[in-house]
Amino acid sequence: MMKHEYDFAVVGGGLVGMAIAYGLAKRGQKTIVLDGEDSSVRAARGNFGLIWVSGKGRKRVDYGRWSLESALLWPAFAAELEEASSLSLGYSRPGGINIALNDDALAGSVNMLRELHAHDARLTYEVLDRKQLAERVPEVGQSVAGAVYSKNDGHVSPLYTLRALFLAFERTGGEYVPEAPVKSIERANGGFRIDTGKRVLEAGRVVLCAGLGNRQLAPMVGLTAPVAPLRGQILVTERVRPFLKYPTLSVRQTAEGSLLLGESAEDTGMDDGVTPEIVAHIARKAVTQFPLLNNVRVVRAWGALRVMTPDSMPVYEESATHPGAFIATCHSGVTLAAAHCELLVGWLLGAQRPSLLNYFYAKRFAV
Ligand SMILES: Cc1cc2nc3c(=O)[nH]c(=O)nc-3n(C[C@H](O)[C@H](O)[C@H](O)COP(=O)(O)OP(=O)(O)OC[C@H]3O[C@@H](n4cnc5c(N)ncnc54)[C@H](O)[C@@H]3O)c2cc1C
Repeated sequence: MMKHEYDFAVVGGGLVGMAIAYGLAKRGQKTIVLDGEDSSVRAARGNFGLIWVSGKGRKRVDYGRWSLESALLWPAFAAELEEASSLSLGYSRPGGINIALNDDALAGSVNMLRELHAHDARLTYEVLDRKQLAERVPEVGQSVAGAVYSKNDGHVSPLYTLRALFLAFERTGGEYVPEAPVKSIERANGGFRIDTGKRVLEAGRVVLCAGLGNRQLAPMVGLTAPVAPLRGQILVTERVRPFLKYPTLSVRQTAEGSLLLGESAEDTGMDDGVTPEIVAHIARKAVTQFPLLNNVRVVRAWGALRVMTPDSMPVYEESATHPGAFIATCHSGVTLAAAHCELLVGWLLGAQRPSLLNYFYAKRFAV
């Protein structure tokens, strides 16, 4: 193969792009990341920070298994990133709790987890009635019905993770270029010529990790990116005494003591704003779950756009028409960061594609 200016160009510097780029750079690949503008939408900078396995794989258990693989890699991944960046990621894996506000919700969660567990015994869970839940989290509200707990789940600061990936990538020789939205990609000299409008460069292989931006980029290399935005709104409170050791799907306490409250999902196109109705709904739900939050001040709220495929599961694919051009897109870029950095990169470098990924081609959406 002809030697190019770069072995790999990664397009998009969100959590998907940076985890892959760091994985490539630390394996000795000359890698450049071309990222969008400050004003571009970025799920990586507005998310909830869960490393979550339970409930994933309802439509295809491979997704649960892939998420579990990543969760199992996270402790070593976090330790390595902390060492490489000198940043603390606020990572912990005490297990996660999905609180049910009524008996029907609890039964629904239990049925779903029972089915997943039947497919793969490692997808474990415990059912907690209200009393058992209160033994673990005494501050839980009186009206809560119970919860399911899984030791597989955890959480992390997504912003420190992203920052650490930038630092580790650059310290291993990677080149990150902000404000460089890719305008065109074409085949050239056995690789790819990439034009950002300000600069033209050549790379042997290109990996599209531009989140919602992949919709425009994928067809340039014979791929499709069936992704659409799904807005989530998140609230952050002032710091309070540590009381919530376990992350839940809609409330988690950060290492610094703030609480993140969230879990809304709305189809609002590219509008990533906040609305009083959803903010009020999130706050009310959090207070029902944990009444002590009633007097805690919300200091900030934001909206961010999830990068969703029609079935919420990832797409990992190499172009048939443009070999050497890949796409990687998923909804759970925090959860999957470790798998992307440690397992996906091997495939990009020519190793066999992990068999767990056999389903994750965009062709599954073709009718
Ligand atoms: C509200 C919310 C809550 C979430 N909670 C969780 C959670 O708890 N756990 C979890 O695992 N995941 C969660 N996610 C998902 C997670 O944030 C994303 O999966 C993750 O950020 C990875 O996204 P990404 O890198 O694909 O896209 P993004 O973060 O959107 O990054 C895409 C990047 O590509 C760049 N770009 C776009 N077009 C171009 C172009 N033409 N050229 C160059 N660059 C381009 C953009 O500038 C951007 O930097 C959540 C998301 C949201 C919105």
